[in-house]
Amino acid sequence: MTSKNNQIDDQIKQYETNRGAIIFAIPMQLFPMLRGYAYLIFDENSSPAHFTLVDTGSVSPEANRQLETSLTWISEKISKPVDFSTLDEVLLTHGHIDHFGGCYQIRQHSSCPIVIHELDLRILTNYEERVVIVSKRLTEFLIEAGASEKSRAEYLEVYRMTKSLGKSIDNVTTYQRMQDQLSRFKILHLPGHCAGEVVIKLDNILFSGDMVLDPITPHQSPEHLTLYTGLGHYFESLQQLKEWSSGVDLTLAGHGVPIRNLAGRIDEIDHGHQERLGKILDIFKKPQTIAQVSEQLFGQVTGYNILLALEETGAHVEYLYSRGYLEITNLEDLEENHKLVPIVYHRIR
Ligand SMILES: [Zn+2]
Ligand SMILES: [Zn+2]
Repeated sequence: MTSKNNQIDDQIKQYETNRGAIIFAIPMQLFPMLRGYAYLIFDENSSPAHFTLVDTGSVSPEANRQLETSLTWISEKISKPVDFSTLDEVLLTHGHIDHFGGCYQIRQHSSCPIVIHELDLRILTNYEERVVIVSKRLTEFLIEAGASEKSRAEYLEVYRMTKSLGKSIDNVTTYQRMQDQLSRFKILHLPGHCAGEVVIKLDNILFSGDMVLDPITPHQSPEHLTLYTGLGHYFESLQQLKEWSSGVDLTLAGHGVPIRNLAGRIDEIDHGHQERLGKILDIFKKPQTIAQVSEQLFGQVTGYNILLALEETGAHVEYLYSRGYLEITNLEDLEENHKLVPIVYHRIR
């Protein structure tokens, strides 16, 4: 074995379900600042033996290379042919490019089913349309959030650049259509972080995508940007997962470390958001915009992080406003102009 393969040996972790399916965790550098995983499941007990890939990494050449090299390494390890052409199916946890970006590479070598929840289907099959629509919604959101014109142009440039990495993919199918073929998996739709987020259970192991992560907290953005996202849906999904996941001994997430105590981690994440909601209510004792609140919560951040901070703040403000904790103090501006203006919120006493 070459020294390069020895290096992979240190990185690829192996797990086994209580029925004997083997899971290889494939680490990847998804973007310069983001690491994460795809998981290859080798199920010799299902007949015929099955190779399933859960998530695919990003479009970055480095991640693509890591995925391909890892399959070669696994092939040597289990002494069976494993490459893109031997995959039986690709299961996607959700429609974010750090999870489905590897599909472009896989499609060049395989016609196996690529499966995603129907609410995220158009992101893959009509990618260009998605970029246009989201850019438009994002522009509206940034104006209403009170972000400056200069920074708005900056955010959108970063956003378009990241998104322009993708393109539409043919022959993508949904969990609904594949129910019979995927009966050995249990799939649960948990919207919030992403509209079509699903978690996938195989025996006593759960693949949580970005629904539950450790130690980072899954990113939230306002439902105003994409239906079925938003903090309200996410809270409901957390509780639903807590009830549904009894019997799960290990959770393998899209980023971060494996989770042994899923219920405990769900409580921590829930608690973190409740605390942030309380802090935001406190900040709104004085009328202000989402951009002003975001700066107080996250300080001076730069580049893409400004957008992430604004979306995260926006998700919390939307949650509070839609449940009657906040009011808008500049209704006349909104009414008069009939065009988009920064919205100023205030806590209702
Ligand atoms: Zn995600
Ligand atoms: Zn992710």
